[in-house]
Amino acid sequence: MPECLTPECDREVTHRGLCKGCYSSAIYYIGIKNTSWDELVKRGLAMPVIRRGQHGGLFRKALDAKRRAPDE
Ligand SMILES: [Zn+2]
Repeated sequence: MPECLTPECDREVTHRGLCKGCYSSAIYYIGIKNTSWDELVKRGLAMPVIRRGQHGGLFRKALDAKRRAPDE
């Protein structure tokens, strides 16, 4: 399993590259406007979110390509 992105924290990643504890801390600091996900991602302390839209877009592209391909 991948490890938490927080230096010296070797717990298992649960969300956005962070372990449960570090993720809760991140949520807390974001909640009090001390930081933001953008900043954490930029500083390598969190993973960017894979947006469902982007992923859906890829699937859609693949589906369209398959449909354009002539049937065998
Ligand atoms: Zn951690």
